[in-house]
Amino acid sequence: MTDRLLVIGADAAGMSAAHQALRTARARGRELQVVAVETTGHTSYSACGIPYWIAGDVAGPDRLVARTATEHRAAGIELRLHHEAVGLDLDGRRCEVRDLESGTTRWIGFDQVMIATGAAPVVPDWAIGVERVHPVKTLDDGATWIRLLAENPRTALVVGGGYIGVETAEGLARRGLSTTLVTRGTELMSSTLEPGTASAARRGLEQLGVRVVCGTRIDGLLTDSGAGVRAVCVDGGEYPADVLALGLGVTPRVDLARDAGLPLGGPAVRGALVPDATQQIIDGVWAAGDCTAVHDRLLGQPWFVPLGTHAVKCGRVAGTNIGGGRASFPGAVGTAITRAGEVEIARTGLMPSWASEQLGLRTVTTRLEATTTSGYMPQAAPMAIWVMAQADGGRLLGVQLSGGPGAAKRIDTAATALTCGLSVEEFAYLDLAYAPPFSPAWDPVQIACRVLAERGR
Ligand SMILES: Cc1cc2nc3c(=O)[nH]c(=O)nc-3n(C[C@H](O)[C@H](O)[C@H](O)COP(=O)(O)OP(=O)(O)OC[C@H]3O[C@@H](n4cnc5c(N)ncnc54)[C@H](O)[C@@H]3O)c2cc1C
Repeated sequence: MTDRLLVIGADAAGMSAAHQALRTARARGRELQVVAVETTGHTSYSACGIPYWIAGDVAGPDRLVARTATEHRAAGIELRLHHEAVGLDLDGRRCEVRDLESGTTRWIGFDQVMIATGAAPVVPDWAIGVERVHPVKTLDDGATWIRLLAENPRTALVVGGGYIGVETAEGLARRGLSTTLVTRGTELMSSTLEPGTASAARRGLEQLGVRVVCGTRIDGLLTDSGAGVRAVCVDGGEYPADVLALGLGVTPRVDLARDAGLPLGGPAVRGALVPDATQQIIDGVWAAGDCTAVHDRLLGQPWFVPLGTHAVKCGRVAGTNIGGGRASFPGAVGTAITRAGEVEIARTGLMPSWASEQLGLRTVTTRLEATTTSGYMPQAAPMAIWVMAQADGGRLLGVQLSGGPGAAKRIDTAATALTCGLSVEEFAYLDLAYAPPFSPAWDPVQIACRVLAERGR
């Protein structure tokens, strides 16, 4: 008998699940019919590349598409673009789908359903429908930004100091716009970066000419000069700009799931779906990606971390299970990486307040400056390392890095160590690769771990 899988949302999580379900089912000699519905006209693209498209590094939207609709269909997936799932009848095992081009709706039956509806950008009331004020979320948003840039704006305001705000500010500044970034945080990315790493991110933007204003909240758009310039009111202050980019974060898109009666997580995970380790919500209902929370191995609880790296992995796990295999997502450790101009930034693990307030742990930290390669090499760039360990026993709890080329990707070793529960002593003596063009003889993260290990003796 042919099983029917309906995938709702055909981007990272949804299409990872769709292909993996097909592969797994075929390997087991099972028949699986996969239908994927997608509201937009796009599928399987890298939203992560949009800031670099804005910057001019990426030639066009086609370069950001990992797999085209034609490729999905050739693989055996019935992909319906411009189709929105508007109602989910779980008892009846059917979904009401609206064809956005014809306006007609019809029900699609399924045996299993994969919810991969992603997240929606936060757009405050004052920004809704305002010309030249736009988020940076989808490929269509990217196209809007390219159109806006073609009108030769001279000044830009970026609202929000998270990863997307920082990357967008970099892109606009590199595109030649006089750019200001305003964030209500005390520093850039202040909820996940310790102050030293956050200030390195700020320096990276400032070196590009971006003006960074922290601790300020935008309340609304005050005036419209008629020349396309918006004066923006910020607790009394005004920030005029020709274009305004919103980088205020995202909220999980769970209306469909909520209306279908599925359980949602609480405020700690912004109301996201909370699947189990197999990505299942209830029998035959699966979910992954930005509409879900991810299990945090260190905190031991679900956490809302809307990242593509989790979307594709969790989607694949769901697909394996849907197709009749067995897989589970082991959880994340809070790893993230970005760039602010020439400064690379990366983090993994806990913040001090999370360790103390949520886990009741006493912690020790150290911070040191080093170089990315042996100091005598021409490409040696300054880098800074922050490491946190548990005061009793020295278990590694968090690492943050900032610096020149080659600094940030070192975070992967630290993330591996956190996943394995290594102590700072164990990390300090790991057999990491050394040759002068790549690293000093002691990798800088190992030196920081050694400092903490010695302090604990
Ligand atoms: C500018 C930017 C930069 C980023 N950079 C990084 C990065 O460097 N590293 C990283 O790990 N992550 C990054 N991310 C995050 C990453 O892009 C997301 O985590 C990832 O796209 C999530 O995939 P998803 O499939 O869960 O959701 P989405 O990509 O949002 O896809 C969900 C899809 O579902 C569709 N949909 C929603 N509701 C319905 C419905 N009712 N019916 C039909 N279709 C529906 C939507 O149209 C959408 O296409 C970035 C995101 C942005 C916006």
